[in-house]
Amino acid sequence: MDYSRLSVSILDTCVSIKDGHLSTTLYHKPTDNLTMLHFSSFHPKHIKTAIPYGHALHIHRICSDEEERDEHLEVLKDALTRMGYDAQLIDRQFQRATARNCNDLRRQTRAATDRVPFVVQYFPGAEKLHHVFRDLQHIINEDEHLAKTFPTPPLLAFKQPPNRKQIVIHSKLPGCQDSSLQPCQGRHCKTCQSVDIDTTITHGNTSHLVHGMYSCDSANVVYLIRCRQGCPVAWYIGETEQRLRQRMNGQRTTINRQEGSLPVGEHFSGPGHSASDLRVTILQGGLRDRQQRKVAEQRLIAKFGTHREGLNWDLGFMSHYR
Ligand SMILES: [Zn+2]
Ligand SMILES: [Zn+2]
Repeated sequence: MDYSRLSVSILDTCVSIKDGHLSTTLYHKPTDNLTMLHFSSFHPKHIKTAIPYGHALHIHRICSDEEERDEHLEVLKDALTRMGYDAQLIDRQFQRATARNCNDLRRQTRAATDRVPFVVQYFPGAEKLHHVFRDLQHIINEDEHLAKTFPTPPLLAFKQPPNRKQIVIHSKLPGCQDSSLQPCQGRHCKTCQSVDIDTTITHGNTSHLVHGMYSCDSANVVYLIRCRQGCPVAWYIGETEQRLRQRMNGQRTTINRQEGSLPVGEHFSGPGHSASDLRVTILQGGLRDRQQRKVAEQRLIAKFGTHREGLNWDLGFMSHYR
């Protein structure tokens, strides 16, 4: 903990009382090692000149005392030199920055432009497009309508090409996604032991990636029941407004009562099976109402074909496909 009666640091500014007045100076966290874009980095030149200028301007604006400002600028110069910046370039940009009037700087907005941006991925020599635009503008001016729409040459804007990090690193590793469904760990929950944590559900050539995190407590979902013994025909897709736990209690009841007229009941109360063979996962959640649930359910049933080769054969109007 830092504590002082005379100064306080807020973000990058340290405010202190000196001779009865408030004084401000730049504040760096002790762990800040002043890393900046290396001069050899693949960036347009104007960005590299803007970095010493921008940092210097920042210091110039924050420090109320000129001596302190210059000390900070010295530190910045060392850091920039380490990053491969040329001493002359640094000095020139520092001079530009410190020549500005601080009072103007504290309240400045950039004027809006109505020039049409020409966005291109940066490449060495891309700056030359400025000249191309200028040289070709007369062609646009020759046409009455184009001249009205594009009265000035376009504004050259660069977008960053993908860098090594973006190419090599992915924030999600295949096979390491967050599990779709986690047991709720409720003391009396009977569904926890049936929870199936697969995130990719594959059936023949069809696969479905589950998005989101769920537990036995999740409601308004489309769920999938499979058989722990791996019976390929024992896939059942259903929707429920209830919490998954409650819905599964209902399914377990039909099994235990051996209600063979219902498809899930028939399979899991069949020979060599019991309710403990149930495996359940959530295929889709975040559904708002009955209609959304029904649409999602039907879509997934059609996708996996569980009305033809599964336990969804009791689907009202679709039952004749059995
Ligand atoms: Zn549970
Ligand atoms: Zn089975």
